[in-house]
Amino acid sequence: MFKKILIANRGEIAVRILRACRELGIESVAVFSEVDRKSLHVRLADQAYPIGPAPSRESYLRIDKLIDAAHRTGCDALHPGYGFLAENPALPRACSEAGITFIGPPAEAMEALGSKTAGRRLARRVEVPTVPGTNDPTGKSQALALAQSMGYPVLLKAVAGGGGKGMRLVDSDAEFASAFRDAASEAMNAFGDERLYLEKYLERPRHIEIQILADAHGRVVSLGERECSIQRRHQKVIEEAPSPVVTPELRKKMSEAAVRLARAGGYVNAGTMEFLVDQSLNFYFLEVNTRLQVEHPVTEQVTGLDLVKLQIAIAAGHRLPFAWEAITPRGHAMEVRLYAEDPENNFFPSPGKILSRHTPAGPGIRMDEGVYEGWTVPNDYDPLLGKLIAWGNSREETIARLRRALGEYAITGIRTNAGLFRRILEEPEFLRGEIHTRWLDELLRKLPAASSGTDAEDEVNSNKAREAAAIAAAVWQSRQNMPQPSAASSGREEPSRWTTEGRREQLDRTP
Ligand code: ADP
Repeated sequence: MFKKILIANRGEIAVRILRACRELGIESVAVFSEVDRKSLHVRLADQAYPIGPAPSRESYLRIDKLIDAAHRTGCDALHPGYGFLAENPALPRACSEAGITFIGPPAEAMEALGSKTAGRRLARRVEVPTVPGTNDPTGKSQALALAQSMGYPVLLKAVAGGGGKGMRLVDSDAEFASAFRDAASEAMNAFGDERLYLEKYLERPRHIEIQILADAHGRVVSLGERECSIQRRHQKVIEEAPSPVVTPELRKKMSEAAVRLARAGGYVNAGTMEFLVDQSLNFYFLEVNTRLQVEHPVTEQVTGLDLVKLQIAIAAGHRLPFAWEAITPRGHAMEVRLYAEDPENNFFPSPGKILSRHTPAGPGIRMDEGVYEGWTVPNDYDPLLGKLIAWGNSREETIARLRRALGEYAITGIRTNAGLFRRILEEPEFLRGEIHTRWLDELLRKLPAASSGTDAEDEVNSNKAREAAAIAAAVWQSRQNMPQPSAASSGREEPSRWTTEGRREQLDRTP
């Protein structure tokens, strides 16, 4: 087993990984940029090493500095977390040259599966259904011809894509040229790679993904699915396991597809095969995430497994001690992603000092956070504060616990999106599990105050967005003072919800 692991990340995931190290009796080394000197992961790690200024390209994205830090601190392994360099094959390569074990898949598997078009080609080869579209990067006129023959709407996507960047929905020939130009330039800015490919745009699909684990001895297991259909602009905000619509038969079919794909790509360690599922429960491969995912805790809660410890064990050459047939989800788990952002102001990031904070606890509640009271949320990174996870015997009990926990959660000094989750957890459709990937955007459009704006709005100048946000905020304020017929939504007497929400909002705002 390893003696010391360098954690090449920050925030809640760095904390998550160092906790696993501590339980395994392995020392952990945190790395930090200048602005992260006082961050929680630095405080909790056994050792911490500075790697440069705040911009991530000068610190968390510098392979040379990470390898140097690992050498200087005597680490024999490196965990990349998610984001930053986690899916960059140059990192496992640099690790292997430096004699450090990379806790993740081999570089070749990242290349075979991590690129979206390569993943699609491999999926076709092993007869895993993919969303109709191109398997290779495509030029504008070729893409236009295909869009016309497939029929609109279509989606232009960046080959190197991630986080919804470089993605454009196109409804007609007239929009095609400008959408292509915008997607390519956004992809260039985000990934340094402007290549695009094209997919048929599925109407109201569900996003359901399969978590797999593969050891270096040829065993590949599926840990079942996570439903991640609650998204804001194609970005997950709530995840749950199991999915309300997945039957044991469908789970088996999707798991077999995921395992086939992993084997074909020579995959080792933890990975996720993402699928879109249509209303008739046909599933289509979307992409592979060759790393640990933000939403891994929901799988941990329903399987009782510790994915980070298993990742470490696999990297150390251990065999997986179970077959996937042995794994059936127990109970239900749901996660919400808590961000320092302002739902009343178009979800703009809301960095700043955390003046006070109350974290929920009690039965069935887990909080994976990277913050503490008195700490300043920096402006330089993704504003994810942490994840609140609930589990229970049934979906209903889990939702009740999550709702209760969100009621206990309070943080002052910064704005958060917690109120949005309190709102979603009251929606009858959500409670019935009747959700799809556009469900939240449609809900937000109906709620002027918390509007995420339309995709087109995203591109208008910030003045217009600010104006809209100000009007929306005023509407929100006046709504809070109005009695709402909300009892119908959950079937309970609940005259005080808007009052409570109002009080909470005030509390959140008090400096
Ligand atoms: P990224 O890697 O940028 O996050 P993904 O390919 O994983 O992009 O897709 C993210 C989300 O975008 C999906 O969960 C889904 O909501 C939406 N999406 C992607 N492709 C399609 C498609 N062909 N049809 C409909 N929605 C899609």
